[in-house]
Amino acid sequence: MTPSPPTAPSLGIDIGGSKTQAVLLDEQGRIVADHVRPTQPGADGVLATALAAARECVQRAGLRFSDLEGVGVGIPGRVDHHAGVVHTAVNLGIGRLPLGERLGGLIGVEVRVDNDVKATALGVARQLDAHDADLSYLNFGTGVAAATLTGGRLVRGSDNLAGEIGHIPVRPGAGRCACGQDGCIEVVAGGAQLTQRLSRLTPAVSLGTLMGAAADGHREAAAVAELAASGIADAVQLMVLTQGSDWVVVGGGVIQTAPGLADLARQLLVERASASAFLASLDLPGRLVVAPSGQPLAAVGAALLPKC
Ligand SMILES: [Zn+2]
Repeated sequence: MTPSPPTAPSLGIDIGGSKTQAVLLDEQGRIVADHVRPTQPGADGVLATALAAARECVQRAGLRFSDLEGVGVGIPGRVDHHAGVVHTAVNLGIGRLPLGERLGGLIGVEVRVDNDVKATALGVARQLDAHDADLSYLNFGTGVAAATLTGGRLVRGSDNLAGEIGHIPVRPGAGRCACGQDGCIEVVAGGAQLTQRLSRLTPAVSLGTLMGAAADGHREAAAVAELAASGIADAVQLMVLTQGSDWVVVGGGVIQTAPGLADLARQLLVERASASAFLASLDLPGRLVVAPSGQPLAAVGAALLPKC
């Protein structure tokens, strides 16, 4: 079951490497307050940022923490969602942070913590009105990760590990991954390696100008775009074949900056279907959806965590 709308206001906090966003959802699940502030690094910085964002958002709505049904936090890194403990969030400078316990102690309300991609999947399902859906969300940010809802429920697996598909090797020879393997999806379509690859081109191309440069005949740029799109297509195919997802929603910084890559991935999936009756029967291109832009999907999803 996808979480039903909270019966009392619920606060969601999305902690990112550069900014933290908090939203307050009312009883009907509508956003009634919203606040964004820069994220301070380190365990204590992240805690202070989350507390300040929560306080500002609740005050803007004219409420107190005791009025809330619950608080949810989405954060990058490995998260023990049972204990509310964040492990090794490298970009935030966190080795270990019992965020649920510490933030909950400060505000006097139970705090649920989960990985930000899993929180975003909940927000995406809400935004698309895809309750009880079989839906995967694929995040192409610095790295690549996925989260799946089956029948509206998050697939977690042991240690909340399910979805780390960025480290499935798909292109031998494409380059070494931070994880030590060669040609991972993250190497092919993750923002960090993609940006590096583009910076080496002559003339240099940014992610924002990639599709334009490729269309204007910059052959190396076109090759990089094709490689990235093939990684996106691989990831979509992987989620449909392993999870049976009706919707595969793609988002994250890479897609927001270069949405043409999702279009190119869809085109590649059409080509693959033309060579495979099996793939054609699955309608992979029709399942690929670009995440709505300009929506606080992760923060909204975090606000739904207390109901999961
Ligand atoms: Zn890897």
